Amino acid sequence: MATDIDSLLRTPKGYDWARLAIQAMETHRVWPTAVNFELWMHYVAAKDSDVAVRIDQVLQSGAAFTDMVGEAIAAELLPASKLSGEILDAGKSLSAELDTVSRAIESARETSEAYGQQLATATESLEEQDPEAVRSMVENLSVATRKVREENQALESQLADTTDELGRLREHLEQVRREAMTDALTMLANRKAFDETLEDACAQAATTGRPLTLAVVDIDHFKVFNDTWGHQTGDQVIRYVASVIGRVAKDARFAARYGGEEFAVIFPDEGRDAALSALEAAREEISSRILKRRSTNEDLGAITISTGIAEFRTADNPAALIERADGALYVSKRTGRNRTTLADMNSASQAA
Ligand code: C2E
Repeated sequence: MATDIDSLLRTPKGYDWARLAIQAMETHRVWPTAVNFELWMHYVAAKDSDVAVRIDQVLQSGAAFTDMVGEAIAAELLPASKLSGEILDAGKSLSAELDTVSRAIESARETSEAYGQQLATATESLEEQDPEAVRSMVENLSVATRKVREENQALESQLADTTDELGRLREHLEQVRREAMTDALTMLANRKAFDETLEDACAQAATTGRPLTLAVVDIDHFKVFNDTWGHQTGDQVIRYVASVIGRVAKDARFAARYGGEEFAVIFPDEGRDAALSALEAAREEISSRILKRRSTNEDLGAITISTGIAEFRTADNPAALIERADGALYVSKRTGRNRTTLADMNSASQAA
């Protein structure tokens, strides 16, 4: 679990650490993104934290500290604590709101109980028909009625405030949930969101008998590209492919960054032919674009993608469907890359 860096940084030393974190990122050629900044704050301010130890391991291995590396560390060591902190805060606010409402309800209950008692006494006084008693009863009733009305108004306004606060909390939690499901580099859905969506889609297809297709996409020779042009350009390439794959995912389709340079698209209610034509269009678009290196304007050439596509079969579970799509992807790679392969509907995990 990550150290509570926020409380460490809310001290006069916080500014020094922020400066040191930026210097350290510059020295190690790391982009100062929000995720990286948070990681490197741990590195300079909490040297024995899990995050700092992990960063040291990457630096000592001589590997580049790419956004991908940062995201992997953050996914493992940061969001869970952030998320649980957010949920804890939301839980505290919620329970404070509920306490206030319970107190208001209790007070309104006591007032109406007293009002009931006054009504009972009033009934007795009426039975006695004593004019003085009736006058005093009317007076008491009028005071009590005003009190009940005021209590009700206070309760109403309290409930309105609580409803507003609950709305704000719900929105905030929804935003946190969205962030936890989004890949920071590409803004596509992340692996966690993909796993959940595929699980639901498979359950749906098994129940309804409607088609479901999965495509897995991998950037060809990405490692060579990264080593040749540097990880910052590599990250741009991932973003470019993500933007094309994201456009494939219109309507009910769902695209995610599945791993480092791997993507996945789920096609609910669609068969493999629809997936094939969408992914072939994406493949052609990507391979026909000459990318430029942003810093020097040099031509990077075109990059290509390989894809494997598998359609859901009745007895499939998510793992089996992924395995068959991966098998088809492997065939695309083995037979020359820059191609899309359909998994054979009849074989265990092999592609056509
Ligand atoms: P980005 O740099 O944030 O660009 C977002 C979008 O702005 C691009 O979407 C494109 O529509 C537009 N755009 C940005 N720069 C230019 C430009 O110089 N000329 C033109 N015509 N449009 C521009 P797109 O094309 O889908 O790219 C998504 C992301 O993919 C980009 O995000 C960038 O990270 C990466 N990318 C795309 N093409 C290249 C490239 O040639 N070289 C590098 N290094 N990265 C690229």
